[in-house]
Amino acid sequence: MATFQAPKGTYDLIPPVSVKYLAVREAIAAPLRNSGYGYIETPGFEDVGLFARGVGESTDIVSKEMYAFETKGGDQLALRPEGTASVLRAALEASLHKKGNLPVKLWYSGSYYRYEKPQAGRYRHFSQVGAEAIGAEDPALDAELIILADQAYRSLGLRNFRILLNSLGDKECRPVYREALQSFLSGLDLDEETVRRAEINPLRVLDDKRRDVQKQLVGAPMLRDYLCDACKAYHEEVRALVTAAGVVFEDDEKLVRGLDYYTRTTFEFVHDGLGSQSAVGGGGRYDGLSEMIGGPALPSVGWALGVDRTVLALEAEGVDLDIPASTSVFAVALGEEARRVLFGKVTELRRAGVAADFSYGGKGLKGSMKDANRSGARFTVVAGERDLAEGVVQLKDMESGEQAPVALADLVATVQARLA
Ligand code: ATP
Ligand code: MG
Repeated sequence: MATFQAPKGTYDLIPPVSVKYLAVREAIAAPLRNSGYGYIETPGFEDVGLFARGVGESTDIVSKEMYAFETKGGDQLALRPEGTASVLRAALEASLHKKGNLPVKLWYSGSYYRYEKPQAGRYRHFSQVGAEAIGAEDPALDAELIILADQAYRSLGLRNFRILLNSLGDKECRPVYREALQSFLSGLDLDEETVRRAEINPLRVLDDKRRDVQKQLVGAPMLRDYLCDACKAYHEEVRALVTAAGVVFEDDEKLVRGLDYYTRTTFEFVHDGLGSQSAVGGGGRYDGLSEMIGGPALPSVGWALGVDRTVLALEAEGVDLDIPASTSVFAVALGEEARRVLFGKVTELRRAGVAADFSYGGKGLKGSMKDANRSGARFTVVAGERDLAEGVVQLKDMESGEQAPVALADLVATVQARLA
C-alpha cells in the first residue's frame, strides 16, 4: 500500500519542535492580550469575493496564490490567504463598530493558505498571529502596534530584526504620485508582466526584487516628496511616538506591500538571517478597506507576524527558547497492584495541577526508567509490591539522583512542596 506524505509546500509540526511554535504564538499574543486586544476567530474559508475586493484583484495573493473552489452547493469560496479582510468582515457582520466602542482592537492566530512556489520560509500552509485596531485614525494606534510587535520579538530573544517604516499617502496625495510614477515607469525597459503591473498598481513595481528592475528604478519619483501635509504630519507623529518608546526603525521610502488596501503607515519586520524570505511580519494602515468590502468608513491599522519565519529566525540567531519540560512527575509501577495504585496517584497529581505521566505498555524497570529520563520529568515515582506493603513509594529526584521513600498518602503534597 502506498504511504501518504504531507502535501507539497506543507509540513507537520511534531514534538519536540512543535513546542517552539506554541511558544512563538504565545509570545506574540501576550503583549496584545495585555494591551486591550480581544481574541477573534474566523472561518478558514470565505466568499472568494471578500479577498478579490478586499485584498485586490491585481495582487499576487489573489491573482496567483489563492486556493479558490466551488462547493457542491455552488458557492464560490477560497481558503483564507490572509487575516485582515476576514477580521474586518466579521467585525462589520457583528456590528462591533456600531456599539460606540471604537477602536475595536482584535487579535487572531491561525493557518493561512497561498499557492506559492515552496522554498525555505515560503509554504502553502503557514501560520500567522495578527492584530487589528479598527475604526480610529490615531497615530498612537499605529505606534502601539509597531511597539507591541517589537516587544513580542524581543521577548522571544530575537535581536537581529529590523523595522522598516514608510507612508503610502492617502486618497488625496497617492493618486498624484501614482501618475508621476506611472509616467516614469512608462519610459523604462520592462517585461510584459511588469508593464501590466505598472498599469494596475505601479507602486508594487518599486517592490520588485530583481536587480535589473531595481537598477532602472534609480531616480524614480519618491512618494515622500508627494505626501500631502496631513499625511506628512500623521507620519511624523507615528515616528515620534515609536522613537519615544525607544524602538529603533529605518525609514524605507521604497517599502510598499503586496496588498492593495494599505494607506499611510506601512511597515515590515525583516530578519537578516533568513535569506530572501526575510520578512517575518508586516502591516500598516488600511483606511479604505471597510468601504471596499461594503462597510462604512473605518480607518484601521494592523499587522500579521509569520510564525513559521519567526521560528526560522530564532534558529538563525541560535536562540534557545526556555521551554520547561512538560512533565514534572513520571510514575513507574512494578506489578499489577502497583499499576493500579500508581495510576490513581497520577490522576490525583494531575487533578492537583502537577504535570504527571505514567509508564504505559507493561515495560520492565529498565525500559520504564528510560521513558522517565526521556520525559524530562523532575521526579520519578517508583513502586513495587514491597513498597506498597509498607504504604510508601520511592521518590527519585532526577536532578540530584537522590531517592527516598515517601508515604503514599503524602505523595501529592510532598511533590507539590518540592516543586514550589
Ligand atoms: P513575502 O513578501 O515574503 O511574500 P508577504 O508580503 O506576502 O510576504 P504578508 O501577506 O504581509 O506577507 O504576511 C505577513 C507575514 O506572513 C510575512 O511577513 C511572513 O512572515 C508570513 N508569510 C507570508 N507568506 C508566507 C508563506 N507563504 N509561508 C510562510 N510565511 C509566510
Ligand atoms: Mg507573498
